[in-house]
Amino acid sequence: MQSYTWTQLDPQARTAVLARAEQVQNASLSESVTAILRQVQQQGDEALMQLSERFDGQRPEQLVYDSDELARRGASITDSLKQAIDAAIDNLDAFHRAQQFTTVEVETQPGVRCELRSEAIERVGLYVPGGSAPLVSSVLMQALPARIAGCSVRVMATPPPVSDAICYAAWRCGIQQLFPVGGAQAIAALAYGTETVPRVDKIFGPGNRFVTEAKTQVSVGGTAIDMPAGPSEVLVIADDNADPAFVAADLLSQAEHGEDSQAMLVCLSQQFANRVNEQLQSQLAGLSRRAIATQALAQSRTLICDTLAQACEVSNRYGPEHLIVQTDDPRALLPSLRAAGSIFLGRWSPESVGDYASGTNHVLPTYGASRSASSLSLADFCRRFTVQQLSRDGLLGLADTVMTLADAEGLDAHANAVALRLKAPSTARSDS
Ligand code: NAD
Repeated sequence: MQSYTWTQLDPQARTAVLARAEQVQNASLSESVTAILRQVQQQGDEALMQLSERFDGQRPEQLVYDSDELARRGASITDSLKQAIDAAIDNLDAFHRAQQFTTVEVETQPGVRCELRSEAIERVGLYVPGGSAPLVSSVLMQALPARIAGCSVRVMATPPPVSDAICYAAWRCGIQQLFPVGGAQAIAALAYGTETVPRVDKIFGPGNRFVTEAKTQVSVGGTAIDMPAGPSEVLVIADDNADPAFVAADLLSQAEHGEDSQAMLVCLSQQFANRVNEQLQSQLAGLSRRAIATQALAQSRTLICDTLAQACEVSNRYGPEHLIVQTDDPRALLPSLRAAGSIFLGRWSPESVGDYASGTNHVLPTYGASRSASSLSLADFCRRFTVQQLSRDGLLGLADTVMTLADAEGLDAHANAVALRLKAPSTARSDS
């Protein structure tokens, strides 16, 4: 990986070394995705067939698998894979169940009761990437919180061919229908509906640049989306005592995701960077996806900082999806880390555990969105709404404030809605 010394870079060079590859080559993407969305809107299922043939090299033999079909296909996977999926489900279930919303009830002044409540979003569509690797884990990360939240329609789309492991995971997590369709066409189907695919209220899930661009475009049209969860990224902050083999393994586990993945190392010396580079070369040789990882490493960088405080600043500026801290006292840096989708502290916390089975969610904001967006959680599958109820005395107590503010805004009807009630006769039954 190419190294840069942070303090020797001018402001422009700093921006350039922290740029995502995506941001450089985005021009034609938007147009081609718009064309795919339009085709699905106009031709429904037939467009899904044609686009699958064009981009995935095959027309799906059927456009929907129901729960029985998922169970049947999933039954053929090995017992050890079933056990691993089941173990991951247990941890994810425990962590997401603990995120249940607690209703907020406050009497803001006597007789004025305000509540914040939460309810499941009714229809959710979950996208599971599958272009270059069937991400079984992405099924769990989305389908479990959707089920725990109580979303009544939970459907999923993933590129063909759909692996039996994805079918098993989808069945175990209560997916009702799975559509073997990928890319922007899958997002279009979930956003607009087709003869076979139901239109959903919110679309979730990570994906490549076509998927992410499609989610962004349908969100402008009114379908809610979770976040821009695009090509994966990791940033590792390491001091000189970190194990270069562990650091290289973490960088590679990100790089093998896709050619557009990015792995950044922020460390304190060129010597350490060299040791990591040596490890990268030797570990890369043994990887089945070394061609993909090599391409991803070409757009990955090492930034050498003077201090850990400066390393934290660089990390905050980049806003990584995953942030791994391999320093003597990793938790001490936590208060300084203000922008990361998920943070892995210490030498025994590789990103792989969060990707699969520790319990945290691996659907995370990318492109620096972690500055304001959050990692996927139970709350994303719910909508929050307020309730208020006033007694007659409560309204009396608030009337002057409301009518004065309504007058100041020139909104007579607002003031009137209070004034009329104040003149109404009091009845014991309706006063409380
Ligand atoms: P994918 O399912 O996202 O995309 C595959 C689809 O892309 C195909 O079905 C095809 O229809 C479409 N496509 C391919 N080439 C196209 C073209 N030229 N024009 C139009 N459509 C085209 O699978 P993937 O490609 O393997 O990407 C998965 C991505 O998800 C990776 O970038 C990975 O890093 C990312 N990811 C992100 C997170 C996160 O939380 N941010 C988690 C897991 C994975």
